[in-house]
Amino acid sequence: MTDPRSSSTPPGDANASEPSGARAPGPRPLAPGLYIVATPIGNLRDITLRALDVLAGADRVFAEDTRVTQKLLSAHGLGARLDSYHEHNEARAGASALAALEAGERVALVSDAGTPLISDPGYRLVRAAIAAGHSVFPIPGPSAVLAALCAAGLPSDRFLFAGFLPAKAGPRARAIGEVADLRATLVFYESGPRLAEALAALAATLGPRDGVVARELTKMFEEFRRDRLDALAVHYAQAPAPKGEIVILVGPPEGADAPDPDEVDAALKAALAHLSVKDAADEVARRFALPRRDVYARALALKDAL
Ligand code: SAM
Repeated sequence: MTDPRSSSTPPGDANASEPSGARAPGPRPLAPGLYIVATPIGNLRDITLRALDVLAGADRVFAEDTRVTQKLLSAHGLGARLDSYHEHNEARAGASALAALEAGERVALVSDAGTPLISDPGYRLVRAAIAAGHSVFPIPGPSAVLAALCAAGLPSDRFLFAGFLPAKAGPRARAIGEVADLRATLVFYESGPRLAEALAALAATLGPRDGVVARELTKMFEEFRRDRLDALAVHYAQAPAPKGEIVILVGPPEGADAPDPDEVDAALKAALAHLSVKDAADEVARRFALPRRDVYARALALKDAL
């Protein structure tokens, strides 16, 4: 078994390194391996040429719901051998996908919408394929998290995608608390019936911030509602539960500009006087709400200079 942490150069796609400005080449034969194929999140035209090539050329396409994928394939005039792969048959379907890979086949994985593995099944299969030494090819395309982020009007230089919040109040409040201090835009997936509760919980823990509710992206009733987080919570508490699919985005903490580097260094030096590099970095990262990895690197440099 190959160590999944090791890196290898996969045979790749023969189209991969076209000179810029060159005309997009036609499809070439697919190399054996696992293809993670992004599909539309609403508008069926949001599919890449390469995704269509892979779906047309794969020996087998594993789909979360074969009926949904059949519709997509039919809309593009494609036929493919479809098998189901979803969270309730992951073990069995995963074994069958691995057997196909073992036999040298080209295997595609798609979810109902967007990018597989993003709040969707597929992670275990990708891990197992890598461990067994197979190539895994990303076929990038739509994902609701990026579609929402790029049009929300919130800072996009740093963001945290936190998936779905827990449904129960206690675990939900804890999950929000864990990300409250991050200097990043927060992105959550949510459903209509739970939207008002989720916004109220976010407003209660995160305080005054900008928020955006992005609904039905790329579909006929696409909508962005941009407001303060507490105002959004009030709006949706008073309105009927919205229909359709939803992404919630929350801007970074306000008035939280980057701390003075001299102050951070002084705190690190003080902490290094009685703590290990790791503990000093942990403490200072927490105090200034900075990424632990960056503070650890700075702590190492300061320790060396001491
Ligand atoms: N894998 C998908 C992706 O890459 O975005 C996400 C799958 S997850 C099971 C489904 C959730 O994604 C929905 O509940 C919603 O929060 C979000 N979502 C998917 N499509 C969306 C759309 N067109 N508009 C807004 N949110 C969407």
